[in-house]
Order: sequence, then structure tokens, then C-alpha cells
Amino acid sequence: MTEVLVTEVLVVGGGPAGMAAALAARRHGARVVLLEAGDDIGGQYWRHLPNGRAESNGRADTSGHADTSERLWHHGWDRFTAMRDELLGDEDCEVVTGAHVWSVDRRDDAPPLVHVFVGEPDGQGRESRTFDPAALVLATGAYERTLPFPGWDLPGVFTAGAAQALAKGERVAVGRRVLVAGAGPFLLPVVSSLLRIGAEVAGVVEAAGPAQLVGGWATRPWQLLAARHKAGELAGYARQLAAHRIPYRTGAAVVAAHGVDRVEAVTVTRLTRDWTPIPGTERRIEVDAVCVSHGFVPRTELATAAGCAVGADGAVTVDERQRSSVPGVLTAGELTGIGGVDLALAEGEIAGTVAAGGVPAPGAVRERVVFRRFAARLAAAHGIRPGWRDWVDDDTVVCRCEDVTAGALRRTAELTGSRGLRSLKLTTRAGLGLCQGRTCGRTVEDLLTCVNEPGLLDPGRTAHRPIAIPVRLGELASSTRTSNREDLP
Ligand SMILES: Cc1cc2nc3c(=O)[nH]c(=O)nc-3n(C[C@H](O)[C@H](O)[C@H](O)COP(=O)(O)OP(=O)(O)OC[C@H]3O[C@@H](n4cnc5c(N)ncnc54)[C@H](O)[C@@H]3O)c2cc1C
Repeated sequence: MTEVLVTEVLVVGGGPAGMAAALAARRHGARVVLLEAGDDIGGQYWRHLPNGRAESNGRADTSGHADTSERLWHHGWDRFTAMRDELLGDEDCEVVTGAHVWSVDRRDDAPPLVHVFVGEPDGQGRESRTFDPAALVLATGAYERTLPFPGWDLPGVFTAGAAQALAKGERVAVGRRVLVAGAGPFLLPVVSSLLRIGAEVAGVVEAAGPAQLVGGWATRPWQLLAARHKAGELAGYARQLAAHRIPYRTGAAVVAAHGVDRVEAVTVTRLTRDWTPIPGTERRIEVDAVCVSHGFVPRTELATAAGCAVGADGAVTVDERQRSSVPGVLTAGELTGIGGVDLALAEGEIAGTVAAGGVPAPGAVRERVVFRRFAARLAAAHGIRPGWRDWVDDDTVVCRCEDVTAGALRRTAELTGSRGLRSLKLTTRAGLGLCQGRTCGRTVEDLLTCVNEPGLLDPGRTAHRPIAIPVRLGELASSTRTSNREDLP
């Protein structure tokens, strides 16, 4: 029988937003439980070696890696360790790692019940716990978004986030000669990590062209003054590119990967302003790995299951106090819109304060204004433009779990005349595999939107996952969770 644990403030997600929320709630006197699926807190931004804590405690490194100094790998590492030590040293804050929140149950008169399995992600016999919180802060971050292209399913093609996770979390390079491509400033820390781990970086290929970049970053430049440490970080990356003579091309994209058993080369093409490939500009580059990322998608499954309203951009809608549309449920960080670590920290602090019954500090509110503006520029300067659909030919696999091609998706929509994403998913099986559309969901929606005018009847549906993570049938059967909700499978 799963015990139900009554909690004052429950925070889900131990990234920058969740850590800031937990700390703020503690400062306002609430008892806090922080649940994090990973082995340690820190999230994507402060992802580190599994033994990072031993290192920071001055104990011997047992990893066998030469460079174990985490400080070299991260911006704001000291801030992270201070936050982590404060949380771990506080007996009124329980930090539970390896805690996988798999579902939430809506209630009319209170925040939802939160169901968790604690243990290895794919382990047997995980412990089942249910929390009954007075206030719930969701800070579950984002998924990476990668636009497909012919050959992207070859071994050696990685998402930039996976390459970053392997470098930061394992000190493993994805290849010897690597091309980094996609859109957004996130490509630059990935290059930095690859260099640090000893890989050769063949180049950086940014899809946004000069007009898009200038339009996004150079409008009202005085607003950027408040975020000038970001310019310092950027300058550091630029120096690294120059020192290693790494070419940085804008207005271009990887439109094909070639190879037999693994990637051996890629084709890079120049793009128009709307990201349509320009014929005749193709160039082949020999590499043994390519890392691709076109931004991030808020990770909303728990928020959606809790009933929180989600905007057209796919992010959870919040008010000025980070309150979602569901009483008692607050959200913070990438879940409420892609904005980077500083925005996540400011939002987390506000959400934790409000969850504990406090009033947000003016400093945190100001920071949020600054970094929301920064986020808007990021979206304008690097946001995906529609021409990419032209480099996805009919044979390109879009849903890799179920092996569904772009051609199959388009043909099914044309033949059935259907505009219902749910029915198209059921017919093609796109998004119904193991990842449940985490990788392909937005792409499937984008490709289908333009087939039958005026677009899909139920956009955003690929983000609905009532069971948030893969769970064994035995675990489900033994869990005491009950629900009569219609959206359960
Ligand atoms: C793959 C990836 C790599 C990134 N790397 C970088 C980088 O190197 N540099 C950079 O500037 N930005 C990076 N980012 C962007 C980065 O996510 C943000 O800038 C910042 O970390 C956002 O903080 P957050 O707290 O909102 O989310 P995150 O840092 O993503 O933290 C969310 C946390 O919630 C946990 N979580 C999610 N779902 C559950 C669940 N069901 N149960 C329990 N826990 C859960 C996750 O394990 C995670 O630790 C990366 C993003 C991704 C997706």
C-alpha cells in the first residue's frame, strides 16, 4: 500500500528553477520536499559528473578522468554548489533524487496528488510514494527539439543536448571530428564542451541568417545592458571559436547525413530567410559525428495532467506570481517558456516564495522582466522558420520509435482529409512509440498542419502524456493510484 505523505510545498524538478523555488520556500518558513528524477540536482544547466559531489567535498576523484574540475565546465558553478549545499544541509528540506514523478491526480478542492517511483529509471522494485501537497511547484524543464533531415537516424547523429550530457556528465566525446548545427546560442556551450573533451569541431552551422539574427538581437540594444554577463559568455565562446579556427556559418543547415553503418559526411546548404534550402549551394563535409539542436520545447506533461492551461507556444501560462490556472499549482523555468538559466532562477524564486505564502522580492521580479525580454530576443533571433519542411523528403523518418516517414504522414492526411491530430496519430502510429512523441511530436504537428487547410483541430495534443515517464506494467498494477479521468489510456 502506497503511503500518502502530506507536504507543505512540493517541488518537482531539481534544475535551476526547482532549486531556487525550494530555497525560496524554505526562507519563507515552509517545509519542502524536492523531487528530482536524476542522480543529483542541478538540472540540464549544471549537469555534472556523477561524483561531482565527492569532488566538491574535497574527496578523491574516482572517475579516472584527468579534468575533474567542474568549475571549468560550468558558468555559475559556485552559485550552484552554494544552493545545493544549503538545500542538502537543511533538515526541513527533503531532497529526493531518483524520484520519478509519473502521474498526478487532479482534485477539485486541493492541488493534485503526486505519484512517484523512487529508484533507478529502469530498475525493478522501485518504491512507490504519493504526495499530498498544500502547494505544488512544477519545474520540469524542457525537451530538446531537433528538426529531422534525411539520414538523421544514422548512428553518429546526436542531438546537441545528448552530446552535451555525455561530455558534461560522462566526459565522453561523441566523435573525433564533429559538426555542430541547428539554431540558437546553446550550440556554443556544446562546442566548448566538445573541445574540452578533446574532439575536433569541424564547424558550427546556424540556421538563422544575418537578417534574422540582427532583427532579434539588435533591436532596442539598451535593453540588453541588464543582461550584459550573457555578452561576456558569448565573447568567451567567440574567442574559443577563433582560437581553434572553427568556422561559424549563419543562414545554413545540415540537410542530409551520409554513411553506411554510421555517419561519414553531411551536406550543408545555404538557406533563404525562411529557412528554405537554396539549390546549388550544397557542400559536403566529412565528419564522424554531427550534433543538431533547433531549440527546446517545454516539458509540460505533468502540468497538462494537472489541468494547467498551456498557451499557443506550448508553455504553461502563469500570472505575475507564477501561479498556473490550477489553484495551488505554480510553475517555473523552461516549462513556462524557453528563456535560459537566469530566467529559470528568477521564476523559481518567485514561485517558491508564493507557494510558501510570501511576497516576491522586487529584485527577483526585476530579473524576470530582464530575462523575459532576453527570451523574446532569443526566440526572434533563432526561432524556427517554416522553410525547413522543404529539406524533409518523403523518405525521411520522422517518428523513429514507430518508423513513420514524412511521406506516410502527409499521404495519410491527404487521403483521409482528416484534420484531427488524434485520429492521424492513431492511423499512422506517429508519436505512439516508447518516447510518446517527446522527440517527434512538434515535428509531426508542424508537418501535418500545412496538409489540410486550415490546419489541425487539436494542436498541442502530442504533449499530452497522462503517464509522464515509462513505467512497468507490474509497477502500475501494484500502485494504488485510481482515477476516473477520461484522458487516461
Ligand atoms: C538536453 C538539454 C541540455 C541543456 N544544456 C544546457 C547547457 O549546457 N547550457 C545552457 O545554458 N542551457 C542548457 N540547456 C537549457 C537549460 O535547460 C536551461 O537553461 C535551464 O537548465 C533551465 O532550468 P530548469 O530548472 O527550467 O530546467 P532543467 O534544468 O531542465 O531542470 C528540470 C529538472 O526536472 C527534472 N524532471 C523533469 N521531469 C521530471 C519528473 N517527471 N520527475 C522528476 N523530475 C523531473 C529533470 O530531471 C531536471 O533535472 C539544456 C536543455 C536541455 C533540454
